[in-house]
Amino acid sequence: MTTARITHLIAGTPWEGTSDRTSDVYNPATGEVSGTLDLASADLVDEVVAGAKQAWRDSWGSISFAKRTQVLFKFRELLDRDKQRIAELITREHGKVLDDALGEVTRGLEVAEFACGIPHLLKGGFTENASTGVDVYSIRQSLGVVAVISPFNFPAMVPLWFVPVAVACGNAVVIKPSEKDPSATIAVAELWKEAGLPDGVMNVVNGDKEAVDALLVNPDVKAISFVGSTPIARYVYETGTAHGKRVQALGGAKNHMLVLPDADLDLAADAAINAGFGSAGERCMAISALVAVDSIADDLVARIKDRMGKLRTGDGTRGSDMGPLVTAQHREKVASYVDAGVEAGADLVVDGRTGEFDADGDGFFLAPTLFDQVSPEMSIYTDEIFGPVLSVVRVASYDEGLELINNNPYGNGTAIFTNDGGAARRFQNEVEVGMVGVNVPIPVPVSYYSFGGWKNSLFGDTHAHGAEGVHFFTRGKVVTSRWLDPSHGGVNLGFPQND
Ligand code: NAD
Repeated sequence: MTTARITHLIAGTPWEGTSDRTSDVYNPATGEVSGTLDLASADLVDEVVAGAKQAWRDSWGSISFAKRTQVLFKFRELLDRDKQRIAELITREHGKVLDDALGEVTRGLEVAEFACGIPHLLKGGFTENASTGVDVYSIRQSLGVVAVISPFNFPAMVPLWFVPVAVACGNAVVIKPSEKDPSATIAVAELWKEAGLPDGVMNVVNGDKEAVDALLVNPDVKAISFVGSTPIARYVYETGTAHGKRVQALGGAKNHMLVLPDADLDLAADAAINAGFGSAGERCMAISALVAVDSIADDLVARIKDRMGKLRTGDGTRGSDMGPLVTAQHREKVASYVDAGVEAGADLVVDGRTGEFDADGDGFFLAPTLFDQVSPEMSIYTDEIFGPVLSVVRVASYDEGLELINNNPYGNGTAIFTNDGGAARRFQNEVEVGMVGVNVPIPVPVSYYSFGGWKNSLFGDTHAHGAEGVHFFTRGKVVTSRWLDPSHGGVNLGFPQND
């Protein structure tokens, strides 16, 4: 079978060179290789960064807001036009079911809509007469070339968390997508050319560690937005900042859902299914630890088990509820956690290692798995599994549940299920996690708020999109200005004082 070549997008055009190194891209639902990806050398990355810098200097860095917004509105329109095609690319290389893939593109589209408001978002402050005859005003300017390095699990949405805001702020962009499913990222990036973005402002380099390292040390890359696993996020943050860049590095997660005795248990069971098994658990906001207060734990586990019996796992193009895992290796890794959970003595309520899958070929499937009686030292609790494995940890009370969550080294998302407003209010205040849901299992903030976790889920202090995204992709300048008039005071060598 011949496979498609997948290559870099440089200055809006597919690269025509020849690559020394390539890697395979799979269709996880069939297990077949669907594409061969060119992997960039460090030299090629440097060339692309140089081209992006030139484009920023020649055009985009000094473009008017009127022209910027024309491009942004057009991009938003094109993304909306092509969202189904992009969703199909996601399903083909990632495996998630089509509806879920479409949802991902739609959430990314919201960031493009947010970025269309950039003239308002970048309005500065102005103080007339800060001192007599002296005005002070603030402006925010673009950085130059910025890099976005993204993970496999949201090939459209994660780049879209950053790219529209970076472009709106006047920067040139180099994206390094995951080598596992790059086609959707490339397809979205291609739309910028059609939207009227000058050549060179938008680039995609494919690659692995070599390409990432080249971006981290290149002095012309001024900022890095990274999303991926915690060890790599930490490495990217430390290396990037050591090379003088601003870095936001979003890492892994272990998200807890605390269910109190007064919760609506049907709502909680539905939420646990959606947040535990949607996208085969390959979401940074997936719920992987369900913290149930003892008195309702049996009832809740029974309701979840009942719902799991109705889930269909299979090819994402066939109307299944859940698709395969992204690679054969990842499937084996997740299955090995199920083995480890059994060995550690957790109660395996539903075993996903055996199951029927609606697919042709040899896809990377694992059905939803549920463990009960999980204790905090077991690896199924301590590690981010990133698969369809939900662990129930029983606690005696709200306080014990809160303590468990706050002792966890990750702090991306969490949720509380309760009908007690006071308990929910206490939780939102006391929990040490960046994004909190109240009867909402996956509290991904809308685009005009900012997305990001705490603790080992984020290195750096700036979250994605919203006001923090605009801040990240610009730098501030304050101008103090006086225009001479006949009353000026003449020479004075003292430190300027306000009067
Ligand atoms: P990953 O860390 O393996 O890869 C992320 C990116 O880093 C990819 O582009 C990859 O090519 C690159 N990379 C991998 N190894 C590298 C190395 N040694 N040196 C330099 N670069 C390297 O992550 P993944 O498996 O693609 O994605 C899943 C992870 O991402 C999970 O841990 C998930 O929680 C996390 N994630 C976090 C968020 C968030 O918002 N916090 C969102 C999505 C995904």
